Amino acid sequence: MIVQNIKDIKSRIEKAAMKVGRDPRTVELIAVSKTYPIEAICEAIEGGCTAFGENKVQELIGKIPAIQSVVDWHLIGHLQTNKVKYIVDQVALIHSVDSLKLAEEIQKQAMKKNLLVSILIEVNVAKEVSKNGVAVEEVEGLVREIGKLPNVKMRGFMTVAPYVADPEQNREIFRNLYNLSVDIQKQNIDNISTEILSMGMSTDYEIAIEEGATMVRVGTALFGKRDYTKAPKEE
Ligand SMILES: *Cc1c(COP(=O)(O)O)cnc(C)c1O
Repeated sequence: MIVQNIKDIKSRIEKAAMKVGRDPRTVELIAVSKTYPIEAICEAIEGGCTAFGENKVQELIGKIPAIQSVVDWHLIGHLQTNKVKYIVDQVALIHSVDSLKLAEEIQKQAMKKNLLVSILIEVNVAKEVSKNGVAVEEVEGLVREIGKLPNVKMRGFMTVAPYVADPEQNREIFRNLYNLSVDIQKQNIDNISTEILSMGMSTDYEIAIEEGATMVRVGTALFGKRDYTKAPKEE
């Protein structure tokens, strides 16, 4: 079932990209494997997935050694500064940087290990629903500070849109993040890139792609319904 889901999702990604004249290869599918067991991840790998997203550090570092294949791990959930040290050398991308303090801790841990760590800034575009992410007005200031950190490479932005009955309702949120990204790109800030836009989940990834997403984070549409009783407790 997972393999078939991946086929369906990939074909929908392709259609959404083509609809707006984008090359479908510019959209990466991140399989959000939080709460799902190792066997489900292995099945997704067989189905062609190469990038997995987890939202909790403990669950992420538990799963990494259990997977034999080479895949990219993405941290997509809120990250506490005291946990940065466990993941800086384990993940391809941290999607959820939302403060200078967190970015500075990533810098510190990355420098110790002589790494360049790729991050996205999480933006709280839909203010009323989420408490995570940086307010739109604060983004430019934060970006300028992060640009000064030599072991941190900002590659773009991420947002979490609300769960809505009609995914069209999230179009404006995605469009706003795209426009913000274009505005920041125009400033030509040193050590800052805006090539990645991580937006869109199971119910609205096609809309996000139409509005410029280069990464979509899909969990339930790929793996099926989540059972939170099976996820490790944390925080
Ligand atoms: C759980 C989660 C997703 C995936 O959500 P689905 O609705 O299952 O696709 C995407 N992004 C973040 C940050 C998440 O925590």
